[in-house]
Amino acid sequence: MFSKILIANRGEIACRVAATARRLAIKTVAVYSDADAGAQHVAACDQAIHIGGSAPRDSYLRWEKIIAAAQATGAQAVHPGYGFLSENDEFAQACADAGLVFIGPPPAAIRAMGLKAQSKQLMERAGVPLVPGYHGADQDPALLQREADRIGYPVLIKASAGGGGKGMRVVERSQDFAAALASCQREAQNSFGDDAVLVEKYVQRPRHIEIQVFGDTHGGCVYLFERDCSVQRRHQKVLEEAPAPGITPELRARMGAAAVEAARAVNYVGAGTVEFIVEQPGGYDAPQDWRFYFMEMNTRLQVEHPVTEAITGLDLVEWQLRVAAGQALPLRQHELSLRGHAIEARICAETPDRQFLPATGRLALYQLPESVAFQPDPVRPRVDSGVRQGDDISPHYDSMVAKLIVHGDTRDQALARLDAALAATRIVGLSTNVQFLRHVIASPSFAQARLDTALIAREQQHLFEQQRVAPELACAADVAHTLWLEQAAAQPDPLGRADGWRAHAELQRRFDYEVAGVAWPALLRYTRDGGWHLQVGAWSGLLAVLPQGAGLDLRFGEHRVRVQVERQGELRHVYTDAGMVQILARDPLAHAAETQTEAGRLTAPMPGKVVSFAVQAGDAVRRGQVLAVLEAMKMEHTIAAPADGVVAELLFAPGDQVSDGAELLRLQESDAA
Ligand code: ADP
Ligand code: ADP
Ligand code: MG
Repeated sequence: MFSKILIANRGEIACRVAATARRLAIKTVAVYSDADAGAQHVAACDQAIHIGGSAPRDSYLRWEKIIAAAQATGAQAVHPGYGFLSENDEFAQACADAGLVFIGPPPAAIRAMGLKAQSKQLMERAGVPLVPGYHGADQDPALLQREADRIGYPVLIKASAGGGGKGMRVVERSQDFAAALASCQREAQNSFGDDAVLVEKYVQRPRHIEIQVFGDTHGGCVYLFERDCSVQRRHQKVLEEAPAPGITPELRARMGAAAVEAARAVNYVGAGTVEFIVEQPGGYDAPQDWRFYFMEMNTRLQVEHPVTEAITGLDLVEWQLRVAAGQALPLRQHELSLRGHAIEARICAETPDRQFLPATGRLALYQLPESVAFQPDPVRPRVDSGVRQGDDISPHYDSMVAKLIVHGDTRDQALARLDAALAATRIVGLSTNVQFLRHVIASPSFAQARLDTALIAREQQHLFEQQRVAPELACAADVAHTLWLEQAAAQPDPLGRADGWRAHAELQRRFDYEVAGVAWPALLRYTRDGGWHLQVGAWSGLLAVLPQGAGLDLRFGEHRVRVQVERQGELRHVYTDAGMVQILARDPLAHAAETQTEAGRLTAPMPGKVVSFAVQAGDAVRRGQVLAVLEAMKMEHTIAAPADGVVAELLFAPGDQVSDGAELLRLQESDAA
């Protein structure tokens, strides 16, 4: 076995590989870019080498730097993780040439599976079932059109070199084919430097079911069952589970055998995944009618591998290391078995309500549920994360920040555990898909395992822009939290805290909230018998509150709810069991104070996007004049000049994401005292 390896990756997968290496007493070397100097994967390894600038082409894709780092540190092997160089046969070859073991398949196997069209020709010869289609070398548009007409519409045009759901076009009618082909080729050329495409039948309402395979250098090859990754957005996976709901042992065995056949056809070594698209002509409950077709093989460890680890009890990174060190596979096919049900949710920095637009910013608060190190125990989830509170999520890398993996005896149990884990997740500072994931698992289709790749589109009304928490309740929660904070500040003795609310002497106070762009004033009155009465919209009643764990037990009239409020500037994240809602607490007085103390600095009152600047550097402005427009929570906010002056410098450009408190522009005040 190796004594030291270099991990040529970042984020959660680099941390995850390091964890197994540590368990096996193998030393680890991290590599990092400028943006990742303080990243968690650097801390997770024994040594770290800086390899260049933040953009991947300046660091994580520079193999000469990575190989030099391995040689300088005495690492014997290189683990590529996923993405970056993991499926680059030239890098695998360069490692070998430098005397390093590449922890992955031989370069020839990567090459054989690298292009979708070529790999399909190979699979056809090996007798693996394929989606009806054309995957030849001749790329004459007229020929491709004829092939599409022959296959019958709808067809899918796919970039042969594609990946990550990019470079695909569904074409419904013959007359639309030529335009779709041209646009697909353009995208393929831009993204992958290769405009070759294949055309195949577009399967309606399919499942994505993939088989984990493993080969060794002694001729061994096994499959570690399947994962169902049908829940996708933009052809990218959102939730993954195993076993595939509804699959029969007979179908699993047939798919497993086909996957092993595929791997053997390219003399596969190490961890790989054979992806199949599954047609369900008789519906979700008729697996006897399901037909599976080879889609592609991913010649690396996949993001969703923990799901397989959870049902098999195995550590796939340990298997990778053993195989790379020349050992035989630890188990044979008949010794493998699966237990219970596992689900993984990918937590991404993105805005689901805006076509899943990636989000950037600082993780002001980052609390994931208490996790187990490797195998999920019966109750706690496994959390694979690559970031820490305070880290910046930059636009340079993937938007996935963490994965939650749960296990249960049954699917329903695993689902309930996943929901609890998501409900306990607190991420403040940028937008994430956490609430969206909760909506997906609660949707009728997912809950009842009516799975296909169109699930998210079909369940739209359950998934997007749904307010699960009443605005009245959210406002009441923040009023209560504010009172609680004031009370705690006025009376630091914890024993004295719960017995009174009257930190402030006012008899009546007004709070101004905004929820989804609508104003929600809240009126609070101190009652004669020493309590508080609150009115928000049509709701009114007595307000009472008691600390409970990390949150508050809120009573508002007839309502009784557990809430937790997290603040970020004027933004409030109000968490209840039903979900999270964001509201804005408007405080005109506080704003006046800010502009005075921070003369000349104009900062963003909340995280958002710069829509436009109304001024340029050098412009003279008058007090109150609009300087910039910021968009946050689907609303536009204007930033006005606090005093007369001259604009010294704009610090962002329109379209930039800014975090709460970020300085937007500099103003030279004319009468700065
Ligand atoms: P990538 O390399 O981007 O992962 P894949 O070939 O694996 O590309 O396809 C990605 C996704 O696109 C699949 O998981 C599936 O949802 C969808 N897809 C691919 N091929 C077909 C097809 N022939 N019919 C319907 N959907 C397909
Ligand atoms: P202590 O150190 O005394 O525990 P904390 O600041 O942690 O003080 O909070 C005390 C109580 O206040 C907590 O137990 C909780 O009930 C309530 N609390 C604290 N922060 C929040 C919050 N963000 N939202 C709602 N309630 C909170
Ligand atoms: Mg794929």
